[in-house]
Amino acid sequence: MSVRTRADLDELPAYVAGRTVPGAIKLASNEVSEGPLPSAVAAIQQASAEIHRYPDMGVGALTAALAEHYAVAPERVAVGCGSVALCEQLVQATCTPDDEVVFPWRSFEAYPIITQVAGARQVRVPLTGEHALDLEAMLAAITPATRLMFVCTPNNPTGTTLRRDELTAFLDRVPSDVLVVLDEAYFEFVTDPAAPDGMELARERDNVASMRTFSKAYGLAGLRVGYAVTSEPVAAALRKVCIPFSVNALAQAAAIASLAAQDELRTRCANVAAERERVHRALVDEGYEVPGTKANFVWLPLGERTAEFSEHCLEHKVVVRAFAGEGARVTIGRPEENDAFLAAARAFPR
Ligand SMILES: *Cc1c(COP(=O)(O)O)cnc(C)c1O
Repeated sequence: MSVRTRADLDELPAYVAGRTVPGAIKLASNEVSEGPLPSAVAAIQQASAEIHRYPDMGVGALTAALAEHYAVAPERVAVGCGSVALCEQLVQATCTPDDEVVFPWRSFEAYPIITQVAGARQVRVPLTGEHALDLEAMLAAITPATRLMFVCTPNNPTGTTLRRDELTAFLDRVPSDVLVVLDEAYFEFVTDPAAPDGMELARERDNVASMRTFSKAYGLAGLRVGYAVTSEPVAAALRKVCIPFSVNALAQAAAIASLAAQDELRTRCANVAAERERVHRALVDEGYEVPGTKANFVWLPLGERTAEFSEHCLEHKVVVRAFAGEGARVTIGRPEENDAFLAAARAFPR
C-alpha cells in the first residue's frame, strides 16, 4: 500500500516559476534588476550574525514600522512569508469547504492553487476585451457563499490598473461580510494619479485588506516578506493561521531598513517607470498590441503565437514568461536588458 494523499491534488495546477537560463537575461519574474536597496544589504549583513536565534515571532519591530509608515494601529498590520503566504492565510482565515473565492482571470496564478488547496470553490471572472478587471462581472459573481474576492491592481500579468472611482463604486456594492483583498504587489511602480491607494481604502472600510510586498520594488524577492493592512479582526485572524516563525530574521531586518529608505525606493521606481513607458512605446510603434501598464512589466497578448515568441526571445538570450495560448509577460529591466528584449521583439517575424 502506498500513502494516500488527497485525490484532488491531481487536478492542482502547478505554479510555474519564471525560468532562469544561464547566460540569458531574465525578464520572467518581475524582479527588479538593480537588486536590493543598499540600506537593506547593510541591515542583512548585520542581522546575519544573529541567525542562530529564532526570529521575533510576533514580527514586532517591522509591524511597528509599517504601522507608523501607514499611520494605522499595529493591530491592523499582518506580516507574512511573502504576500503569497498572506493570500493563503486570508483564504484559510475566511473559507471552509464550499465557500467561494472570486477572482479575475487571467490574474496572479497563485489564486486558483491557494483556493483549491484550502478546499474552497474558485470562481474565475474573465477579464474585459481590454485585458482589464471586469468589476461589473465580479459583482455579478457574488453569491451567499462568497467569502473573499481578490482584486489585483495593477493586474499580473496584464499590467492594467483600476481607477480609484471605479474601485470605490465597486466596494460600495460588495456585501460588507465579503473580504476584498486588494493585491497591490506593484503599487510602488504606479504613476497614475487616478489609481487607487489600497491603504486609504483599507483604513476606511472594515472588509478591505491592502496587501503589498517587499519582493518587487524593494528587491527582496529572495527573502520572502509581504504585509497586509486591514481591520483588526481580519489581521488577528491572519496571525492565527500563520505558521510560527515563518517570517525569517533577515527578512524582518531588511524590510525595516528598506522601509526607511524611501528616497532610494523613489529613485528606483522612477527609473523603472521611465523605462516602462519607453518599452511600451517602442512595442506599440513596432505594431504590437500592448495594454497600458502601470507595473514593472508589459503584456503581449500573442495568443497562439506566445510559445513561438518566447522561444524566439530565448534564442536572443532573453527569458520572458509565456502563458501558452494567451500571452507573454516581460519584466522591465535595466535599459540595456530592455534593449536586448526590444531587439528580439523587432526581429520576431509577424
Ligand atoms: C509577485 C506577486 C505576489 C507575491 O509576492 P511575494 O513574493 O509572495 O510577496 C503577490 N501578488 C502578485 C499579483 C504578484 O505578482
